[in-house]
Amino acid sequence: MSLVLPLFSGTCPATLTAVVITAQPVPRRMLAFEPDGDGWIVRLDCGHTRHIHHRPPLATNPWLLDAREREARVGQNIECARCERLELPAAAVAYKTTAVFDEVSLPQGLRSEHTTRVGVWGRIEVLAGRVRLVTPSLGRDEIIAAGAHGVVAPGIVHWLEPLEPIQLRVVFLRTP
Ligand SMILES: [Zn+2]
Repeated sequence: MSLVLPLFSGTCPATLTAVVITAQPVPRRMLAFEPDGDGWIVRLDCGHTRHIHHRPPLATNPWLLDAREREARVGQNIECARCERLELPAAAVAYKTTAVFDEVSLPQGLRSEHTTRVGVWGRIEVLAGRVRLVTPSLGRDEIIAAGAHGVVAPGIVHWLEPLEPIQLRVVFLRTP
C-alpha cells in the first residue's frame, strides 16, 4: 500500500474538508478504432482503450458512423482518465527490469524530473525503506514503503527521492 499525500492541500474552515488540486487531464493519441457492439473502442498510445458511442442525446458523436471521419481522427488526442488515475493497462507486460538500487546508487536521472517514453509504463518496486514519488501534473506526492510499488505513466514528469536507506528497482512495461 502506498500513502497518498496531496501535493497541495489545505483546509476549509467551514467544513474542515481537505482541498486537493485537480489533476491535469492527460491527452493521448488515438491509434485505431475497433467496433464494439453498438459503439466503438479507440486504442490509445498509452496502452489504454476508451469506449465511444453515438447515442443522442446522451452521447453525440455522429462522425463515428463514417469510416473516413474515424480515420481522420487517428493521430489526434483525446483525454485518458485512466492515465490520470495512474491505472496500469491490464495488457501491459514487463520487458525490462533495472538492477536493485540503494540510496547511493540510485541514478541522478531518476532523482530529477524525467519521463518515460511514449507507451512505456514504470513500476517502482520498493524492497526496503521508503521512497517519495512525486508526479506534479497529476497532483500526486506519494510515499512508497517496502513491499509496495508506485506507478509511472508514459511521458508524465516525475521524480524519486529516497527518504532513508532504501532498495528499489524499476520494472518497465508496455502493451504488445
Ligand atoms: Zn491512458
